[in-house]
Amino acid sequence: MVTADTPCLTGGCLCGAVRYRLASAPFEAGYCLCRMCQRTAGAPALVFATAPLADYVPIRGQPKRHRSSDFGERWFCADCGSPLAMRADHPPETLDVTVASLDDPTAAPPEFHIWTRSRISWFEVADRLPRRAKFRPRTPGLEDGSERAVDGASL
Ligand SMILES: [Zn+2]
Ligand SMILES: [Zn+2]
Repeated sequence: MVTADTPCLTGGCLCGAVRYRLASAPFEAGYCLCRMCQRTAGAPALVFATAPLADYVPIRGQPKRHRSSDFGERWFCADCGSPLAMRADHPPETLDVTVASLDDPTAAPPEFHIWTRSRISWFEVADRLPRRAKFRPRTPGLEDGSERAVDGASL
């Protein structure tokens, strides 16, 4: 529930064409090391935090959407390419926002790693957070640990 004390986080892309606000504090922040996140970011990982889709409030512009797999779509700035969010089909009422696109990325520190089986060998984060080879726990619409992804490709 959004109250007067709820931190209102803002974020956006590199060029400023897309700006957004989150009407509630995001939760379950974690690293994703899957190959598709690596390719879309051009980096070894993305960090996402989850928010209710209804709490994503556009301030300026609209992200372009790319259906990257049968798992969901990715939102990014059509002008500068910044990855902004991942919207999975299950559950449809949430959105995973890229934490680094927040103006204050410290507001949603990662709590776990997923898709470590796709980790690039030289990328080692020195923390003791839980690590999962594939999907996050309790991924709706999927049996935990299912083998639907093909050889490292995933989201
Ligand atoms: Zn942009
Ligand atoms: Zn990923």
